[in-house]
Amino acid sequence: MDDCIFCQVIAKKLPSKMEYEDDDIAVFWDINPQAPTHLLVVPKKHIAKISDFKEEDMHILNKMVVIAKNVAVRLNLNEKGFRLVINEGRDSGQSIFHAHLHLLSGRRLMWPPG
Ligand code: 5GP
Ligand code: ZN
Repeated sequence: MDDCIFCQVIAKKLPSKMEYEDDDIAVFWDINPQAPTHLLVVPKKHIAKISDFKEEDMHILNKMVVIAKNVAVRLNLNEKGFRLVINEGRDSGQSIFHAHLHLLSGRRLMWPPG
């Protein structure tokens, strides 16, 4: 996906601060952080949005949450707390159409979200 920003980050054609990487998943710091810690957990396979995950992709979706948890624990974010967020579609504010999980931490997060 040549025109996808996250595919370009994964391919290292765009710079990023990479926090974790394996064959399936990349975790990098958000360019416009909404909290002191704002990471994006991104499947390497280009899947535009969460509702596009097929049965055969379920291990990737599962792994996104597991990796988010592991990174959160490694960075000690579980001491004070963190939030995992997935946006999908216009009303959610999804702006990058390559599925991703936001990992937010480091400040008191509002509820309900805006
Ligand atoms: P969405 O609004 O789609 O849920 O989240 C997209 C996120 O990607 C936003 O938080 C935005 O700041 C981040 N973002 C957009 N472009 C880039 C980029 O080139 N690099 C990085 N690291 N993050 C980006
Ligand atoms: Zn992509």
